Amino acid sequence: MKIQELFDVTGKITVITGGASGIGYAYAEVMADNGAIVTITDINKEGLDQAAAKLTARGGNVFTEIADVTDKASLKKAFDVVAKRHGRIDVVFANAGISGGPGFLDGQRNRDPQRALEALPEELWDRVMATNVKSIFSTLQVAAEHMKKTGGKIVITSSVCAFKSEQFIGTIYVTSKSAVAALVRQAAFELAKFGINVNALAPGPCATNIGGGRMQDKTSQELFNSQHLNGRIAVPDDMQGAAIYLASKASDHVIGAHILVEGGFRLGVAD
Ligand code: NAD
Repeated sequence: MKIQELFDVTGKITVITGGASGIGYAYAEVMADNGAIVTITDINKEGLDQAAAKLTARGGNVFTEIADVTDKASLKKAFDVVAKRHGRIDVVFANAGISGGPGFLDGQRNRDPQRALEALPEELWDRVMATNVKSIFSTLQVAAEHMKKTGGKIVITSSVCAFKSEQFIGTIYVTSKSAVAALVRQAAFELAKFGINVNALAPGPCATNIGGGRMQDKTSQELFNSQHLNGRIAVPDDMQGAAIYLASKASDHVIGAHILVEGGFRLGVAD
């Protein structure tokens, strides 16, 4: 089969949560650039408008919907609008997520008491679990309702933190993404019979707006660059190859998998 056919996403009705920025925007860009009909959803209206303007200027067929992933009703409303507008939903990127607050160690492995496990506030736990875990549960529920009729692909943004203790990001985020990994496995198991492939794309550290943009500042970039086997932190575009793979026919026999896109970060520092 020709590569063009294997990886073709032309006309795929695609919904992306958290699509206004970072990795979600990169998914939207690669899908729209390759002919998918993309709806980006987000809580950030201004960000959505800017993202849609950029994607449209590139020739993309792009729509926007405000939706808060912590509010199932707002997610359902957005997905219903897309299904009504296009008649079906083929591909969903369950992507929106937040950082778990500052890590508990600094770059020199010093422990800041404010950031230690025992000091992390319960409010932060609740907020991160709602945005990173319950949100994926809700997105799966809402997406499955539509996709059971036609089948399709659900791609969940997980993290390398699902597989690795993380010295910078902290306990709550690591826990949230580990729960996401379990959700991917179980949802894949339950939804496969409807022709819905659930898989995860697991980025490593990536220079986005997460955590107030701290992944983009010079100090953290230098710190993270040295932790990657290819010498650099990811940029959102690094996620586009795996995104197209998981959204297209090329991954038809892939179910419940995690594709790690993390420059060897999980393997440790080489000499
Ligand atoms: P980002 O902040 O650049 O983008 C996240 C987007 O999600 C933003 O547009 C934000 O407005 C939106 N969002 C936040 N809360 C929302 C909510 N309640 N409802 C709807 N939208 C909401 O960050 P990013 O790094 O692109 O993060 C995307 C995903 O990638 C997250 O799940 C994150 O955990 C994951 N991830 C990021 C990294 C990294 O280092 N940047 C690494 C691994 C995994």
